[in-house]
Amino acid sequence: MNPRAMGTLDKGGVMKRNRKLLCAVLVAALVLFCVASPVDAWNSHGACTKLIIGDQEWLKAYDTITITPWTYEDVDTAAVGPNFVLQYIEGKPGTVTSAAAILTNYADEPDWKMDQDLKLSLFQALTGGSQGWRHQYYGLGWLRFGVAPSRAQYFFELAGKAKEKGDLYWTFRYLARAMHYVQDTTQPYHGVPAPTGLIFKGIGNFGALMGSATNHHYNLEEYQGAMVARSSPVFVGALWNAAPLDIATATSPGWLCRHGAYLGRPEVRKLWAMETTFFGKDVDGKDSWTVDVNALRVAKSGTDQAAYDWQIAQPLERMSAYTKTLLLLAHQEYGL
Ligand SMILES: [Zn+2]
Repeated sequence: MNPRAMGTLDKGGVMKRNRKLLCAVLVAALVLFCVASPVDAWNSHGACTKLIIGDQEWLKAYDTITITPWTYEDVDTAAVGPNFVLQYIEGKPGTVTSAAAILTNYADEPDWKMDQDLKLSLFQALTGGSQGWRHQYYGLGWLRFGVAPSRAQYFFELAGKAKEKGDLYWTFRYLARAMHYVQDTTQPYHGVPAPTGLIFKGIGNFGALMGSATNHHYNLEEYQGAMVARSSPVFVGALWNAAPLDIATATSPGWLCRHGAYLGRPEVRKLWAMETTFFGKDVDGKDSWTVDVNALRVAKSGTDQAAYDWQIAQPLERMSAYTKTLLLLAHQEYGL
């Protein structure tokens, strides 16, 4: 805690009480972060990215890109998980692919053990380990946990270095990685694991609060993935129709991550309530519970499910808008 802020709060009994409450909330939140430690975000970055980039006409010019081996040892020096294996999905170096295929196929790559089993920060346990640390940007009050914004920035800059070398394959592959972190931070539960009010109330029964936070997070993602797979018009529309931000304001991948997390945090309260209504009381329970995705159907209008869809559509639209903005930044800055 900032000592100057403490000094201010110490004035007067009420402020003292408030400080105690605030500290209790913070401690509770930290413990909660440890257990509710999701590392994935939106269900299938690849499936969503395929829809998002459908309207990016300029990408279509990059339809014949020769796959090249990774030769960035000198500049790509960030630690990589010991079990990460570099894959070439479309074929070995020398094969021809397209920008759209690279972006779609590698949108999920940072989740493929790239960021697992690393020692990055003393505080990484608060976000569930090294992958959680790199893929999230938790905020509570003035505290922030996670480095998703700098990861997005790191890979965006590597994309620029690949472009300088005339290596289009790694330009787009690094862009796909940068895109992953931008997309992660638009999932509201990656900005804060539960509504702040509930964290506060749940201090007395902490196990229950931790269980329910995990259930809410994972079930939102299960449900969202199932609805995209079923081509739900609300979800497809959100991913398809979103417009990019003005890059005079949204000036960098780091900005996109910080702003995405900032806008998502207040939505957690609304999502949480709607999840309780739609999924039922099991999602609030201490025990792990997952919705039966096979039983899910596209929502009928006027139902609780339809209301939930519209709420999810807001951050999902941001996932799309922020992805398109990132591509626009690359298009402009790297002359793609
Ligand atoms: Zn991720």
